[in-house]
Amino acid sequence: MTMASHPGTPEDPLRVAVVGSGPAGFYCAGHLLTAKDLTVEVDLFDRLPTPFGLVRAGVAPDHPKIKSVTRVYEKTAARPGFRFFGNVEVGGDIAHAELKSHYHAVIYAVGAETDRSLGIDGEDLPGSWAATQFVAWYNAHPDYRDLEFDLSCKRAVVIGNGNVAMDVARMLLLPREELELTDTADHAIDPMADSGIEEVVIVGRRGPAQAAFTNPELRELGELADADVFVDPAEMDLDEHSAHSIEGEGEITPRRNVEILTEYSRRMPSGKRRRVVLRFLRTPVAIHGNGRVEAIELVRNELRHGGDGSLRAHATDAHETLEAGLVFRSIGYRGVPIEGVPFDEWKGAIPNDEGRILDPHEQHAIAGEYVVGWIKRGPSGVIGTNKRDAQETVDHVLEDLAEGRLPEPEHADPGAIEALIAERKPDYVSFADWQAIDAAEVAAGEPLGRPRVKFTRVQEMLEAARRR
Ligand code: FAD
Ligand code: NAP
Repeated sequence: MTMASHPGTPEDPLRVAVVGSGPAGFYCAGHLLTAKDLTVEVDLFDRLPTPFGLVRAGVAPDHPKIKSVTRVYEKTAARPGFRFFGNVEVGGDIAHAELKSHYHAVIYAVGAETDRSLGIDGEDLPGSWAATQFVAWYNAHPDYRDLEFDLSCKRAVVIGNGNVAMDVARMLLLPREELELTDTADHAIDPMADSGIEEVVIVGRRGPAQAAFTNPELRELGELADADVFVDPAEMDLDEHSAHSIEGEGEITPRRNVEILTEYSRRMPSGKRRRVVLRFLRTPVAIHGNGRVEAIELVRNELRHGGDGSLRAHATDAHETLEAGLVFRSIGYRGVPIEGVPFDEWKGAIPNDEGRILDPHEQHAIAGEYVVGWIKRGPSGVIGTNKRDAQETVDHVLEDLAEGRLPEPEHADPGAIEALIAERKPDYVSFADWQAIDAAEVAAGEPLGRPRVKFTRVQEMLEAARRR
């Protein structure tokens, strides 16, 4: 492998491939394209024809303001040196080694596309879903277009106490009038609006003081138009360690969570049609049913100090069974390996040292290979977290450039990769193509008072791009 001379000049730009166009990928592209005294060319790849990752396919449809962060990404896309190659899967359409041979550096920003499982009996019964699947379905991710959710049961149980669990519970309870004003996938609106669900139970394995959800999301549950919120006052009786744990200066979020939950536990039902119930200190041990989900068995936990000082859930002998027709496990996302790129199976992420990908055998950084976002840190953090994270990764790319540690690509000409993509994936999507898709979606939404009507199939997206 030859090392680069000193790319970064107008005659010899630094060429970087960023794989994945979610927040992490876009923030990397932004930091690179605004690097001082450096000429950089960034090609941003996505396996979907649409950019923005979970901002499009994860953020809840009833949170439209959050999605306006895409304006920042659009500014990045308008900078000289930026190209988008959508509908191109790295590790599928283009191999990792091929990509490497065209760039000084490759940065993986592929997120965490699959789910973690509970590992309990009955988890594979029809009616037992990963939150990842439900979220991607109602957000029109084309891979999930043909899933069918039977929402006719009366009770749904959501396992997990993170913000995704909050999103899932809230979306299950939104009334038609609200759903119809969002960019929820058309195929999901009728099943969700006409669902038989009367009660959503959110189950946390630890207590109210350990919940991972944040205050605004918890408050929203108490403001639902169609559902009363219910917390058992007995479950707000904090053990000594939990009570102590929320006293510190830095513990504002859990302390407020406990305050909000305490207020919920004192509320009288106002007679709304549905209810959302928060349960704590319960872990699912089995899902029961004859041919489909009929009930979930929970074990009661108590909290004990783990070796690292955290409070951990320990099962007691007390079991209870809750009738339910649907179970959504919302216990975290998980990365998917890419052929030729190291992967830590235990963590579900790419092994790295502050963004430099590590050779798993030698434990040293692999020249010219980087990682950012959820596939770097694991599936945690809000959109803004990825901006700081991208800065760290880009700083290391630039440091390696300055130290002459970046490999010289075999094919430095930007036309070479474009030609390869055009050959492999003639219907790849440029940023201008995406803008045509975007405009068509927005135009379809306008007369309905919706932000957009999303295309749900890749073919429809490509046709809209072609009409440009
Ligand atoms: P992603 O956003 O997942 O982007 C990864 C991209 O890589 C995708 O576009 C994917 O198509 C692409 N890709 C994957 N594999 C390949 C491949 N082989 N080749 C090419 N491309 C590939 N944060 C907030 O601040 N506010 C919220 O309201 C909020 N809501 C959320 C709701 C949900 C359901 C979830 C799961 C998360 C939410 N977050 C929210 C967190 C936020 O979405 C994440 O922090 C952020 O999206 C992570 O960014 P990322 O770029 O690492 O991954
Ligand atoms: P998360 O915040 O990590 O929450 C995961 C939850 O699952 C935790 O309550 C965890 O409990 C629980 N859990 C894990 N393994 C479990 C098991 N085996 N059995 C039972 N429970 C288990 O993850 P997330 O909800 O997927 O969210 C991911 C990130 O996206 C977070 O940073 C979140 O803030 C962000 N996000 C933000 C928004 C927003 O800003 N509105 C919306 C959605 C997502 P323990 O704590 O006991 O481990």
